[in-house]
This record gives sequence, structure tokens and C-alpha cells, in this order.
Amino acid sequence: MANETNDEETMNPNENNNIKPSTHIGTNLQPEQLNMYVTQLEETGYYTSQNDILIRIRHQSQELQMLHQIRVALLSNTDLNYLFQAAVGALAGCFDSPLVALYLLENNQLHLKAYKGYDKLVQTIAPDYGICGQVAQSGKPLLIEDVSQATEYIANVPGVCSQLGVPLIHQGNEIIGVLLVETTQKNSLKEREMRLCRTAADYVVLAVETSRSQTSEQRRAEQLLVLNRIGRELVSLLDVSEIISRITGSVRRKLNYYSVNVGLINEEKMVFSIGSSEKDVAEDTQVSLPLDEDTLTTYAARNGELVLVHDVSQDKRYHRLPEMPRTQSEIVLPLRDANRIIGVLDVQSDRVFAFDDDEVILLKTLADQTSIAIANAIRFQDIHLQKEELGRTNRALAEANRLKNEFLANISHELRTPLNSIMGYVEMIQSDFYGEVPKTFSDPLERVERNSRRLLNLINDVLDLSKLEAGRENLQIEKFALAELLHFTCDTTREQAIAQGLAFSCEIDPNLPRIVENDSRRLRQIITNLLANALKFTQKGEVSMKTVPTTTKSGQPGYKIMVKDTGIGIAKEDYDHIFESFRQVDGSTTRMFGGAGMGLTICLKLISMMQGNIEVESEVGKGSTFTVTLPSIVP
Ligand code: ADP
Repeated sequence: MANETNDEETMNPNENNNIKPSTHIGTNLQPEQLNMYVTQLEETGYYTSQNDILIRIRHQSQELQMLHQIRVALLSNTDLNYLFQAAVGALAGCFDSPLVALYLLENNQLHLKAYKGYDKLVQTIAPDYGICGQVAQSGKPLLIEDVSQATEYIANVPGVCSQLGVPLIHQGNEIIGVLLVETTQKNSLKEREMRLCRTAADYVVLAVETSRSQTSEQRRAEQLLVLNRIGRELVSLLDVSEIISRITGSVRRKLNYYSVNVGLINEEKMVFSIGSSEKDVAEDTQVSLPLDEDTLTTYAARNGELVLVHDVSQDKRYHRLPEMPRTQSEIVLPLRDANRIIGVLDVQSDRVFAFDDDEVILLKTLADQTSIAIANAIRFQDIHLQKEELGRTNRALAEANRLKNEFLANISHELRTPLNSIMGYVEMIQSDFYGEVPKTFSDPLERVERNSRRLLNLINDVLDLSKLEAGRENLQIEKFALAELLHFTCDTTREQAIAQGLAFSCEIDPNLPRIVENDSRRLRQIITNLLANALKFTQKGEVSMKTVPTTTKSGQPGYKIMVKDTGIGIAKEDYDHIFESFRQVDGSTTRMFGGAGMGLTICLKLISMMQGNIEVESEVGKGSTFTVTLPSIVP
């Protein structure tokens, strides 16, 4: 280090016996004071014989002063341009009529940052031009004591006789610029000047490093803030192309990247949306690449690995795209949906070594946010498509159902007319309208009549159900005496129960509302249906009906009708199915009990039209209880 050399060279004037005691210089002496003392000593003329000692002290004091000036500038100001100017000025103060300039390497060119002594100077120097170019390329100091002896010398400034270039080296390997000193006197630049320059160069590098780390920390804090906001924004988007265009556009600009691209895997290809800060690149540019091609992005996508290339010129897998002509380093991060790779986030910089550890962590977060947002959007789009598909299917089903109901209504109507006529004729034959009927005919005629009635009931059910399903049936609400209707319905069932050898009981609570408002025909139909089922599915034991007052679920006064049997029962898993049209617990053709599976469906539809509800409680082999709850007044 140049500082160490300075320490070795520092002379303590006290050690020299020739110095007058009155000029004792204290150890805490400031560089300006030291300089002043030296001037005073020179003026006394006392030390003329000790000239070289004075020169050395003078140099020493100049060096200290230079370091002091640079250090003060460094501590008091973070503005780099100010610091450069201060360093150049301080260094110039150590020479007689010097020319000092400071160049920094940016975008592969040396850019003038500060100078002293020159009238004017070239602003940019190519990296291989003149002494500055040579120093920047070799990373080694270069001293030309007499330019007239140097063949490689290029005369830019008239009168220059000696040149000295010192590289600015960051962290021991990255050349960031050149410090140049020129003088108009031959052989005036030597080892001592070189050492001074190196010290000044060290300070300049320190200033650049401090400023860079301050800027990068500030940048990181800003980026994290931006990233947080971006994350929130992205998850609120549900359109994949919208998410991608945000990443390649506004997100790239906010985070200040040269280029940000998103590639999504589409079968054997990767389709890229390009975001570049090159002016002539449109925001929605797309590029497609076969997935098996050997590139940095396809490699990352195929292997699900992060790929970081500090200098793309050193990696064969890098392919320059016309949209990003200045790329120097690149990082590619896989995008995932769960464990599946769906694409990549590709970020490029126009600087080498642009992605340090902090930057990588930041970009990983951005890649995670992008992955989640894209995966969500894809899922949302899928659900949306499925919903549309479901909507289409539902509409088709509703149409099919409508056609079915129409067909059933038509066909039952067509069947009912001839059947009614058959039944009419049978009745007429039975009543001897066409002459006396032989006794042997009466049993077959009775069977024809019974089966025709069953068939008519079936046809009526089909017609009823199709009308109810099509919503073409309305209730005929009227006032009637509830107990009377219940008694009447029970009476008809009792006869049949007795005929089947079953016990039958009918319990009607005296506190029931006397008069109710409902469709009496439909209410009778419901009760008859439930009782008919109870009789049908019970071979021994009892069928009963009980009616009590209650309050409906919506808090209206109402009543409960419970139809109970000791029949075959229903398994719990079939409770819901039995109310679906044409569904039977035993749907086989070999079943013991007749029916077409419409009764309970019709009951359920009518009960809901009456604002009531129906429940079933049952145990297989022990019996069932169907409970209907209805309001006293149906609105
Ligand atoms: P079905 O004309 O077949 O009786 P329902 O709609 O009235 O049509 O009844 C549907 C199915 O519910 C019946 O096939 C039967 O499996 C079951 N079910 C209805 N009521 C009872 C009951 N009281 N006991 C046992 N099973 C019953």
C-alpha cells in the first residue's frame, strides 16, 4: 500500500541534529502547518547547505497535505464528482505545473471525470488508446519519463514531456479507471511521483467503492419496496399475458434492468415475451425458441436450474438477440407451478458482473412472485373455461329435459284418450249395457278394469311430473277443513290395509288448525301417495298416520303429517335418491314391488310449492317414517 510506503519514508525532523530546537515540530502537526514551517526554514537561508533534506521534508509535507485534503473530501462529501475533483486537485498540488486527469471505465470506454492543469481534454478514450488505454488494459502503472524516447507516445497535448498512468483497481481485480499525470519537464516524474499517484488512486478507488456500496444498498432497499408492491400487484392479476407484460415492461423499468424477458414452455417450444430498454424494441415483441436448442434459457428450463453468467462472452450457450445488443451478463431463473417447470425469467445487464448475491436473492423473489401469479392465472383461466363448458352442458341438459317433458306430456296425453275409452267400454260391458254378461266373464273384466286403472294412474303421474318439472302447474289455493280431509283419506287407506292384513291407525290432534289454506286436491295426493307407499312396502305389522300442530322452519304456524310403517325400510345412503324422478332403491326388473319411481318426486315438488318440507327416518327391515311439514296458510 502506498500509505505504508509513506510511513517508512516519513521523516521526523527531531531526529536530525541540524534542526534548530526553536523549530521543533510536534507530532500532532497538521500538514498545512508543516508546510508553513518548511517555508519559514527556507526563508531563513540557514538550511541552504542541507538542501536535499529540505526537499525531502517539502515532499513529505506535500504528500501529507494531499492525503489530508483527499481524506477530508472523502469524509465530508459523498458526491463522487466532487471527490474526483478534490483528489485530482490534491495530487496536482504535489507537483510543479502538472497536468492531472482521472478517467473511469464505463461501457468499455474511458470517460473523463476530473482534470487539473489542462485547457481542455478528450472526454472519452477507447480502451486501447494511448497511455490511458494501455494502463486500463494491462492493469499496471506506466511511467514514461521522456516521451521523446517512447515510440508508443501519442502527442495529444502540446509540450508534454513526461507521462505517468496508474490504474484504479477495485477489489484487486476489476479495473475501473486510470489516473494520469503529465508534466512539461523532462524526467520530472519518477518513483516518488508514481508512489504519490498510487496513493491518490487508492483513495479514489475507496471513494468509488463506498459510493457504490451506498448506492447499491439504497438501491436494494428501494428494490425491496418496489418488489413488495409488485408482488401485491401481480397476484391481483388473473390474465397471464397481462402479468407477463407487467414483468417485461413496468417491473423492468421500476427495477432498472437492461432487459427482462419471460419465456413460457408451450409443448416443444419456449415462447418469449421480450422487454428491452433499447428504444426501437416494441413492448409486445415475442420470440419463440425450440426447447431442445442449446441456449442459457432453454438449459435453465430443461434442468430447472438457475443459470448465472457474469460475462456472456465467455459462455458458448449465450446467443445474442438483436433486441438486446448490449448484453454483457445474464441470469435465468426457472418459473414453477408446484414441481412443474412452466418457463423462465430471464434478466440481462449491459455490465459484466452485474448480478451479485443480493441481486440474485432479489431476482429469486421476483421469479417466485411471477411463478405464483402465472400459475394462479392459468388455473383461473382453466376454471373459467370449465365454467363456460359447464354452462354450455347445463343449457344443453335443460333443453334435453324440456324436450323430454314435452314428449312425456304428449305421449301420456295420447295414451290417456284410448285408455279412457277402453275403461268406458269395460264399465259399460260390466253394467250389462250390451246385454247380460256371462258369469265367467266377470273376473277377466275386473282384471282388465283394475289394470287399466293402474295404467291410467301411471300415465297421470307421468303427465303430472312433466308439467311440474316444466313449471307449468300452479296450486289452486282454497280454504278447507283439514281434519275432514285427513279423515277421508284415512278411510280409503284403512280398507286397503285391512285387505292386506295390516293394522292401520289414524291420529288427528284436536289442536290442529281447523281451517287451512292450501290446494286440497294436491294435499290429498301427497298423503295418499305416502300411505300407498307405506302399504306397498309393508308386508306385516302396521301402517299409521299422525297429524300434529307445529311451527314451520320459517316460523309460520303449521302442521306435521307423519306416515309410519313397519315395512322393509330404506338405507341412509338412499334417503336422497328416493326423491329423484324414476329412482327406486331396487331399480331391477326383478324387484318385488311395482311402481315407476315418480310418487316421491311429485310429493317433493308439490310440498316445496306449498313452502313446506319432507323428511324421512328409516331403518332397514324395521320400517320408515315420512314427515311432511306444511304451513297452515300457503302464501
Ligand atoms: P315408486 O313408484 O317406485 O314407489 P316412489 O317415488 O314413490 O316410487 O318411491 C321411490 C322409491 O322409494 C321406491 O321405489 C322405494 O324404493 C322407496 N320407498 C318409498 N317409500 C317407501 C317406504 N315406505 N318403505 C320403503 N321404501 C320406500
